[in-house]
Amino acid sequence: MTFTAKLKSNDEHGRLAALKRYQILDTAPEVEFEDIISLVKTVLNAPIVAISLIDSDRQWFKAISGVDASETPRSIAFCDHTIRHDIPLKVEDATRDPRFANNPLVTGAPGVRCYLGVPLQSPDGYNIGSLCVLGDTPRVFTDEEVTVLQSFASVIVSQMELRLVSRHDVLTGVLTRSAFEVRLKAEFDKPENAPAALLLLDIDHFKSINDSFGHATGDVALRAVGKTLQDNLRDTDMIGRYGGEEFLILLRNVTPEDALAKSERLRRSVSQLRLKELAGRKLTISIGLACRTDTLASIDEWMRRADKSLYDAKNAGRNQVVAA
Ligand code: GH3
Ligand code: MG
Ligand code: MG
Repeated sequence: MTFTAKLKSNDEHGRLAALKRYQILDTAPEVEFEDIISLVKTVLNAPIVAISLIDSDRQWFKAISGVDASETPRSIAFCDHTIRHDIPLKVEDATRDPRFANNPLVTGAPGVRCYLGVPLQSPDGYNIGSLCVLGDTPRVFTDEEVTVLQSFASVIVSQMELRLVSRHDVLTGVLTRSAFEVRLKAEFDKPENAPAALLLLDIDHFKSINDSFGHATGDVALRAVGKTLQDNLRDTDMIGRYGGEEFLILLRNVTPEDALAKSERLRRSVSQLRLKELAGRKLTISIGLACRTDTLASIDEWMRRADKSLYDAKNAGRNQVVAA
């Protein structure tokens, strides 16, 4: 493999953080990964192929072919053995391997006999999961087959990197508008109608920042505002760039009172920023807030409510929060 980082094998906390960074756990099937495993299946002539990601206490399959499963406990995962080393794990006959002979995947369905797994290693050296093939008869894997599987593992990690980069705005690092909207829709479609609040934020008089200090400095200011907002959010919240100097935030599990208080805090923290590039000039934002209600028919309507409130905040003099 071409990775330069050395495997960080004794840092489970860092490994889980690396896995979480990809934001891929519990996401829907994606054709890129489906295509890779179907190729592996053909090339290696294997009945079962999986992209297994090792979470704290489960292995979750981003793609799997040959058995119907979305996850298993980590304790029975062959792949949990694979990720502990940076070499492939070959099991020719699991019934003769003391590590696996009593494994329920061997003693029961799907009756695993042979296994070949190669780690999926992040560029910073964490084994976040593995690409593996399994079969129900003993099998000796050749060096060539191992090399092929390693190449596919590299392709998978590259695809995960691309997937991550393409969902994030280059300048500010927050989600792109389209990635935000996809997740907002998923949130909206949740049956439980969980309490949530949508914020539309717009930097005040930003054109004059550009005019006074130049576009490059405007970019510095935009990045600083994005970072300040992000630093004030919880892991469960979500932030995206809506347009030029506009951001979108979803606050999950908040009452209307909490959402208003949180919005106020965000507004205040931006107004307290002092950037040397702006010679200490204040940056302020206006925020339109719309809490989720039973009467919301669509995310478009949700967005329109937030947009209308933002418009009101601007008209009322800027640097303030207005709730729908
Ligand atoms: P308001 O208080 O009404 O929001 O005034 P404003 O000046 O912020 O609003 P306006 O929509 O007139 O201007 C937005 C400016 O944001 C204009 C545009 O050049 C600037 N802008 C948009 N995207 C970027 C960017 O990526 N970088 C920089 N530096 N400026 C940007
Ligand atoms: Mg604007
Ligand atoms: Mg503006």
